[in-house]
Amino acid sequence: MVVSPKIFFNDCYGKYAIAAVNVFTMEQVHGLFSAAQRANAPFIVQLTPVARNYAHAKMLSAMIDAAAKIYPKAVYAVHLDHGNEEHAFDAINSKKYQSVMIDASHDDFETNVVRTRTVVEKAHQANMVVEAELGVLAGVEDDIDIAEEHSCYTQPSEVAVFVNATKCDSLAVAVGTSHGAYKFSGGQGIQFHILKEIQDRLNGFPIVLHGGSAVNVEEIERINQAGGKLTEGAAGVPPEEVVESIKYGVCKINIATDTRLLWARVHREFFKQTPDLFDPILPGKEYMQEYEKFMLQKFELLGATGKAERIRTNNKIVMSR
Ligand SMILES: [Zn+2]
Repeated sequence: MVVSPKIFFNDCYGKYAIAAVNVFTMEQVHGLFSAAQRANAPFIVQLTPVARNYAHAKMLSAMIDAAAKIYPKAVYAVHLDHGNEEHAFDAINSKKYQSVMIDASHDDFETNVVRTRTVVEKAHQANMVVEAELGVLAGVEDDIDIAEEHSCYTQPSEVAVFVNATKCDSLAVAVGTSHGAYKFSGGQGIQFHILKEIQDRLNGFPIVLHGGSAVNVEEIERINQAGGKLTEGAAGVPPEEVVESIKYGVCKINIATDTRLLWARVHREFFKQTPDLFDPILPGKEYMQEYEKFMLQKFELLGATGKAERIRTNNKIVMSR
């Protein structure tokens, strides 16, 4: 069942968080939907412009539509991650998304407001919601690459003005997480005092955390033992910090890096252990299983396990009225 993130955020605010997972391949779509159905957990499946370039926007949408039939109990929303106006309008017109992100966080405040507002107007006309971003995250993801010195925390004094001016439906903030596998090379972690100030000024408004991967040290070691060369300093958000952030109004946790590391670990180990094999379906199958296992743990961590049932029931009542 396809549901607006708005319904998710109303249900989860302050209690649990929705995993928003970036997918690029068929194996990831299977793993994600399969885990969510088993866990009975609501989730957001999200697509970046790079994913749309790689697999094709139509291919990704078709895979998600197919997954909804294969896993009929899945309760999900489709979201465009890190779009510009062109991607956002294309996603709105395709009618295959419930939500888009306009990322104008690298522009100055006024430009960010104007660009976000334009996308919000179009999206709301189409009954879709918009995630905007204030503050600049460091790190590397897809075609985004921001050096540490160019990153900056979200200014709590700006958030209410921004949300009121743009009418966006959720706000991604920069409070210490970053994109990629080297999140806390500087060693800080989530700045809860900033997050608290943001929450106080936004009064129940959903907050989004990008760069929410854990970057498990064991995974890094296994990748390196199987021939990988991920350098020292790979680090993610400690699970307890992610859980803590939920109390501060964080409703959506973006996860991408962990699923990439998982891909690298499964495939490197597979080909190292069986150098005589070359069939993609063998490691592919293993990746799907490991992905499902990984997501089951994530849903549990975020408190989302079992939460899809009530959303499904409430939504049916609303739709039958
Ligand atoms: Zn992001």
